[in-house]
Amino acid sequence: MKKLIVLLTLLVIAVGCKTEEKTSEEKQQNEFAIIIHGGAGTILKKNMTDETEAAYKAKLEEAIKVGHSILKNGGSSGDAVVKTIQVMEESPLFNAGKGAVFTHDETNELDASFMDGKTQNAGAVAGVKDIKSPIEAARKVMTHSDHVMLSGTGASIFAKEQGLEIVEPSYFYTERRFNSLQRIKKKEKTELDHDDKKAAFYDADIKNSKFGTVGCVALDKSGNISAGTSTGGMTNKRWGRIGDAPIIGSGTYANNKTCGVSSTGWGEYFIRGQVAYDISAQMEYQQKTLKEATKDVIQNRLTKLGGTGGVVALDKKGNMSFEFNTAGMYRASMNDKGKLVLKIYKE
Ligand code: ASP
Repeated sequence: MKKLIVLLTLLVIAVGCKTEEKTSEEKQQNEFAIIIHGGAGTILKKNMTDETEAAYKAKLEEAIKVGHSILKNGGSSGDAVVKTIQVMEESPLFNAGKGAVFTHDETNELDASFMDGKTQNAGAVAGVKDIKSPIEAARKVMTHSDHVMLSGTGASIFAKEQGLEIVEPSYFYTERRFNSLQRIKKKEKTELDHDDKKAAFYDADIKNSKFGTVGCVALDKSGNISAGTSTGGMTNKRWGRIGDAPIIGSGTYANNKTCGVSSTGWGEYFIRGQVAYDISAQMEYQQKTLKEATKDVIQNRLTKLGGTGGVVALDKKGNMSFEFNTAGMYRASMNDKGKLVLKIYKE
C-alpha cells in the first residue's frame, strides 16, 4: 500500500512537471525569432583551432543578425530566411554556395529548398551547377513557377529567365573542399588495398568534411514562419545523387499551425524518416511541444534508423529548438529581445 502511495505521488509530480513545461511553451515566447545552423557532424573541439572556431562564430553571428534586423523592422520571415542563408552561401566556411563540397566527378552540385508556413507553398532546386544563390532560386521556383522542384540545366534556365545571378561553375571552388575529395578518393583506394592503418587515419578527416549544410527558420511579427536549407550535399557523391535538403518534408518544412524546420546530416536517412515533416506532424496530431517532437524525431526515430545529424526548429509561439545526435552542430538563435545564442559543440 505504502509503495502504491509513493508511486502515485511520483506520478502526480511527473504529470505536474510536464504540464508546467507545456504551459510555459504555450505562452507566446517571442513576437519574432530566428534560428540557424551551419551543418552538423563530427565537430570536435580537439580538431578545431581557435581561429577556425572564431571564424565560424563570427560568420554565424553576421548571418543571423541580417535576418534578425529584417524581422525587427517588420520584414517577412521569407526575406529573413533567404538573406540570412545568402550570407552563409557566400562564405567558403560552409558547404553551401561557395565552399560547397565536390562530387566524385570534381564538380559542385547544389541543392536548396524554401517553404512558406502561411500558404504551405514551397520551392526547390536540385543538382544545380551555376546558380550563385540556390536558396534564392528555390524561393523563385515557389513564387514564379507552377512547380515545386526544378533540377539541373532546367533549373538554371529558369533562374536565368528570372534574372538571378548565374556564375561560372569555378566560382564554387575552394581548395579545402577539393582536398577533402582527394583524401576521400585516396581512402577508397586504400580500402581496396586493405591498408587498415591508413584507412583509419583518413576516416576522421572524412567524417569532418562530410557535412556543413546551412539552414534557417524564422518567425515574423505577423506570425508567419518560413524555413530554408541550402547545401552542396555530400563529398564524393555520384550519379546525380540528391540529398534531403531540396526535399520538402525531409530537409525543410514550415506550417504556421505548428513549426518550421531545417535539417542537416546524412540526407538519405532524413529522406527515409521524413524528419522535418514528422516533427510538424507530431505537434499537429499528438499535440507534442516543439521540444518533445524534435527530441523524439532526432534522438529516437532518426537514431534508430541509423541516421546522424540534427535540426533547428521554431514554433508559432517563438519557442526554438536545436536538436542533434552528432558531436556538434554549428548553430545560433536570436529572440525578439536580441538575445544571441551561438554554439558549436554538444553541451
Ligand atoms: N543533408 C545534406 C545532404 O545529405 C548534407 C549535410 O547536411 O551536410 O545532402
